[in-house]
Amino acid sequence: MFVEKIDPTPIQRIGEYLNGNAFFIKRDDLIPISFGGNKARKAVLFFNDIRSKGCDSVITYGSSSSNHCRIISNIAASEGLPCYIISPLENSRQTSNSKMTEIFGAKVIRCPISEVKDTISNHIEILKTRGNNPYFIQGGGHGNLGTQAYVDAYNEIKDYEDDAGFHFDYIFFASGTGTTQAGLVCGQIINGDDRKIVGISISRRNPFGKQVVFNSVNDYLSSKGMGEVKIDDVCFIDDYVLDGYGSYSPAILKTIKRILIQDGIPLDTTYTGKAFWGMKEYIKKNEISGKNILFIHTGGVPLFFDDLEEITKE
Ligand SMILES: *Cc1c(COP(=O)(O)O)cnc(C)c1O
Repeated sequence: MFVEKIDPTPIQRIGEYLNGNAFFIKRDDLIPISFGGNKARKAVLFFNDIRSKGCDSVITYGSSSSNHCRIISNIAASEGLPCYIISPLENSRQTSNSKMTEIFGAKVIRCPISEVKDTISNHIEILKTRGNNPYFIQGGGHGNLGTQAYVDAYNEIKDYEDDAGFHFDYIFFASGTGTTQAGLVCGQIINGDDRKIVGISISRRNPFGKQVVFNSVNDYLSSKGMGEVKIDDVCFIDDYVLDGYGSYSPAILKTIKRILIQDGIPLDTTYTGKAFWGMKEYIKKNEISGKNILFIHTGGVPLFFDDLEEITKE
């Protein structure tokens, strides 16, 4: 698998109707690497960096349900690089992603969540003393390269609008570490566009969640020699996190079932289904009507299959 660059992902109209808004989905779940998603978009940039730096092993962090760990370990295996994953004991339930990570031969090192940071630095040191040149990727592909991936996605959205003679008033998506959101916000600032970018938090609460996005935006902009933004330029909504990461409600299952039947698009309970439901609640609460709304499908398709039984029952 040698992918240096991905093609723009499709944007399609879907059959959703709410307050006379038109809904579209950008299908980043269709990125043609390891079941796609935002982690695949980011991984392409990380592996270009790994090749150019001549690193010989990869070390990263994530739970057993992590899409990031599946994709990183898949590309690493395909390129013959050993991959080390530090994983919290608290979240080690077997999932389709963890089973695939096993198939890819990643070495999973489990430790309590409080020891993750030290375990990562210890392992980097061990690899270095062995004479290796390891490449560290932050959990979820956080950092300026991850942000760059969604500046690129933002530019794809701009190109679509230019071709279609069309403007999205809102962009919604599932926000986790906030890197996806940071990239979209930076894209908007660089292009000087007028629209609202709304990250629906799937786990973090404010003010922390918003602060992390804000810091990522400013890190990226300063790396490009640009000035800071105001924290109010970041819209990180924590009204729909329920009981935190991985928690969901019957309303989310209903949303997933509906989009599956209506549009043939799989969503999951942890990220995209939760965010799609949160988006609709946000639209109702803020009485948004008659707008063009883009939802970014950030992937996580294997999680859809983990959820299948629950969706069937709904
Ligand atoms: C990781 C992930 C997110 C969150 O992305 P961040 O850049 O961490 O905010 C959203 N959706 C899916 C499917 C993911 O795997």
